[in-house]
Amino acid sequence: MKYFSTRGAEARLSFEEAVLAGLSPDGGLYIPESIPSLPADWRTSWRTHSFTDLAVAVLSLYISADEIAPPELRDLVERSYAGFRHPDVTPLRTLDGGLSVLELWHGPTFAFKDVALQLLGNLFEFFLARRNARKAAGEARERLTVVGATSGDTGSAAIYGLRGKADIEIFILHPKGRVSPIQEAQMTTVTDANVHNVAVKGTFDDCQDIVKALFADTEFNATHHLGAVNSINWARILAQTVYYFHAFFQAQATLPADTTLQFVVPTGNFGDVLAGFYAQRMGLPMARLAVATNANDILARFWASGRYEKIAAAPVPPPPTGALAEGKDASGVTATLSPAMDILVSSNFERLLWYLAFETAAGDGEEARRTAACGTLAGWMGSMKADGRVEVPTAVLEAARRDFVAERVSDEQTLVTIAAFYAREQPYVSDPHTAVGLAAAAVIGPTNSPNTHQIVLSTAHPAKFSEAVSRALADAPGFDFARDVLPAEFEGLLERERRVVDVERAEVALVKAVIEGVAARKVGGV
Ligand SMILES: *Cc1c(COP(=O)(O)O)cnc(C)c1O
Repeated sequence: MKYFSTRGAEARLSFEEAVLAGLSPDGGLYIPESIPSLPADWRTSWRTHSFTDLAVAVLSLYISADEIAPPELRDLVERSYAGFRHPDVTPLRTLDGGLSVLELWHGPTFAFKDVALQLLGNLFEFFLARRNARKAAGEARERLTVVGATSGDTGSAAIYGLRGKADIEIFILHPKGRVSPIQEAQMTTVTDANVHNVAVKGTFDDCQDIVKALFADTEFNATHHLGAVNSINWARILAQTVYYFHAFFQAQATLPADTTLQFVVPTGNFGDVLAGFYAQRMGLPMARLAVATNANDILARFWASGRYEKIAAAPVPPPPTGALAEGKDASGVTATLSPAMDILVSSNFERLLWYLAFETAAGDGEEARRTAACGTLAGWMGSMKADGRVEVPTAVLEAARRDFVAERVSDEQTLVTIAAFYAREQPYVSDPHTAVGLAAAAVIGPTNSPNTHQIVLSTAHPAKFSEAVSRALADAPGFDFARDVLPAEFEGLLERERRVVDVERAEVALVKAVIEGVAARKVGGV
C-alpha cells in the first residue's frame, strides 16, 4: 500500500515515509492510494477477535507485510494497548434509554488520543531502530526531535506515547499557569530523560507560534530532525478505525440482528470521525456518521450550507440564557467547556474533502479522477488560505450529506446534558466533550429509522474536566466529585515529583536554546 498527498498525486510514499513525514511538503495530507475492502468473511472470522486482534487485522490492510512483517506488527500493537486499564481497551457501555457510549479513555492519560498516540510512539521507535540498525559502524544515528504546543489535553497523550522511546526527544510547550492543574501535573510528573516539558511565560498562541517558527527554520529542522505528532498524522487516523469495528462486534453481541449503528462523534480536528468514514468505506455497515461540534461550529455550518468558512458570516447566536459567556480569543476561536474541540478549522477535514472531490470528479478512469481531485482540493485549500472560505458545488455537498449529519451544541446544552445523564436511573457522569456528543445524539435521533442504535464516542474521563463536571452537577443530590468521579490514579498526582523547564519570555531563541542544550548533552553521550 502506497500513500500520496491530497494536493498532488504524483509522489507515492511507503507507510513508513508517510508516518515519519506527517505533513506533505506541498501542504497536503497523506491518504492511501485506495481504501481496502474487508475480507469476504470478516463478519465471521473477525467476530470473536480481541481489540488487538482486530487492530492487527485492520492495520495489515493498510501496511504491506514487506514493510512491517506480521509478527512485528502484532508485537507493536500488543505493546501499544497492554497499558490500557480495561480488558476490552475501548469498551462499549449501554446506558438506559437505548443508547451506548464507546469509552475511548481507558489509556494512560484518560483521553481518547491515547488510542492513536500509544501506537504512533511505538511506530516511530520501530522505524528509527530499523534505520539505525542498518547504519555502518561510526555512522551517526538517526534521531527524532518531536516538538509540540499544548493547551492541556494533547500534550500529555503525546508525552505518554513517546516517554522512554530510544532516539526520540519530546519537547512539549505549554503556557505557564494557563493549563488546568490536573493536566499540568499529568505532563510534568513524567520524569523520563527524553521528556521535556517547557513552561512558556505567555499564551497558548505564543507556544504555537514558537513551534511553527521552529518547523519553518530549515537549518534548525535539518539539524534536529523535527517531528510532529499532531492529528494529521496518518497513523493516528488508522489506529482510530479499529474501535469502530470493535464497537460493531460488541454491539452485535447484544442488539437485534437488524439494528443499524449510528456513531455520534464529538469533533474538533475531524480525526476521530474521519476514522469512522474509513471504516464505512471499507465496508462496515452504519447509518450516517454524526459530527457533533461545540460553538466552534465550522463543520456544522459546512453541512448546513456547503460553505467551509473560518468566521461565521453572521455572528454566532448567543447561548440561550446568556448565563454563559462564550468568549472569542484573538484568533477567533471560542473558548468553551469542551476545550479539546475549540478549533477554527478542522485539519483532517481536508481528507474528507479530497474524497468528496474524487467521488464527484469528471474524467475517465481512477488515475484521471484522482489527479482532478488533487487539483480541485489544492484550489479549495488555496481559497481557504487566501479568503478564509470556500464554497463547494452542490454535488459535493450532496455527497457529504449522504454520509454525514452535523449538529452544533452550546455550553448550556452541554451542562444540561451532563446533569440529565447523571439524573438517569443508572447515573452516568460524562465529560463535557462526550456530553456534546450525547446532546447532538438526542437532536439527531428522531431523524433516524426506528432500528437505529446510537453509539456516542466518549472521548475523555470526566475527572479530566472537573470544572465543567462539578459545575453541571453542583445541585445534583448526593453527588461527590472525589468519590464518584476521581480515579485512584489521580490521587496524589499534584504532589508527585515534577520535571519542567521554565522559559521566561515567549521567544523562539530561548526555546531553541533548551532543545540545543539537550541535544548537546545527548550527543556527548550522557
Ligand atoms: C481531541 C479531542 C476531541 C476531538 O477529536 P478530533 O479528532 O480532533 O475531532 C474530542 N474530545 C477530546 C477529549 C479530545 O481530546
